[in-house]
Amino acid sequence: MTADGSAAPTIDADGVLADLDALAAATSGPDGARRVCWTPVWAAARDLLRERLAAIGINEVETDEAGNLWARLPGADRSAPALALGSHLDSVPAGGPLDGALGVMAALGVLRAWAADPEGRVPPRDLVLIDFADEEGSRFGRSLFGSSALAGTLDPAALADLTDAEGEPIGPVLAAAGVELEGAPRANARLGSIGSYIELHIEQGPVLEAEGESCSAVSGCAGVERFRLDLTGQASHAGTTPMIQRRDAGLAAAEIGLAVERIARENGGVGTTGSLELEPGVITAVAGRAALGVDLRHPREPELAAMLAAVREAAGTIAAGRGCEIAEHPIWRIEPIPFDPELVRAAEAAAAAAGGRAAAIASGALHDAAEMARVVPTAMVFAASVRGISHAKEERSEERDLRAAIAAFGDLAGAALFGPPGMS
Ligand SMILES: [Zn+2]
Repeated sequence: MTADGSAAPTIDADGVLADLDALAAATSGPDGARRVCWTPVWAAARDLLRERLAAIGINEVETDEAGNLWARLPGADRSAPALALGSHLDSVPAGGPLDGALGVMAALGVLRAWAADPEGRVPPRDLVLIDFADEEGSRFGRSLFGSSALAGTLDPAALADLTDAEGEPIGPVLAAAGVELEGAPRANARLGSIGSYIELHIEQGPVLEAEGESCSAVSGCAGVERFRLDLTGQASHAGTTPMIQRRDAGLAAAEIGLAVERIARENGGVGTTGSLELEPGVITAVAGRAALGVDLRHPREPELAAMLAAVREAAGTIAAGRGCEIAEHPIWRIEPIPFDPELVRAAEAAAAAAGGRAAAIASGALHDAAEMARVVPTAMVFAASVRGISHAKEERSEERDLRAAIAAFGDLAGAALFGPPGMS
């Protein structure tokens, strides 16, 4: 039974967990998952998904111009906009068994529940499973490739010069996988067939576990301001330059890092200075140059803007105080993306009914759902992560938490199918 009491078939969590095990067995090595997009192992993961789809009689399986895989279970009204469910099978090079894979296999579980319904019911409209291509961007550095193409925000020209770690250019690599980079935005033409989108994902953070919660709805994805601060002081001798006469770009960067930490805490966001390069970078010289990477995130736009303004002001003051020049170089930004309020409420009800957290939490990471939320009503469910570890072979969720999250996701699918018109 779904949260609103309508009768949709119940998702079989055993089947979802078995599919995840089979996927891990077929596509992981000693260092973890190896499903990097556009590689043979990723293709093998898709072959496994296709086998599973064929086994439940779903033969409408296609790949769009951006490499996204679409599998369609016909509903009663084929002209009505479909409910799309998905995530990504691709992983980082030494990834975990659940990131992305959980959402794809849970989507498969929803399709399977309908396809194998003993009462022979059909969903009121089409169900579409989407396995997005290259969510991780771990090979060419551009994440959300497939979902941004579908949402209409992919600019192929901005990607044309990208190469992987071996120097292989993106164009031929995608072409070998059947995707023409220039033509990828044409995937957007399929968007009209979709009415709404839901995704199950692991939290990849420690919040739910710390609260003792198994799962939750997700209110939206935090916005990101990512940039580099280049500080220029004066390189000089470690022994002969008096402390009072130094223009130490490294210490200016260090002090800015501490300011970023303070500002993030004061604004209820997160701020990270995870990269720092010093020149000349020797132990016997004052650093003449420093390049500090800054990543600020907040689920709400006003706070994110306030954090950015405060970091800029503090960085300017700190640099001046140490006699350094400062220049800011933008790297990437994305505004906070809230999910559909009505679908989020349905996800909250589903999570609560499954024994999870009653209120939604914000996602600090980006997901395919962030791109989808730009264009169709979207919601997500999170499963608690053990110790918040992800993008590593230690990535894990307790089985009872996975079962609760899968049940909540199945419930949300039912609510999205049978809920009020605004939700469909
Ligand atoms: Zn993911």
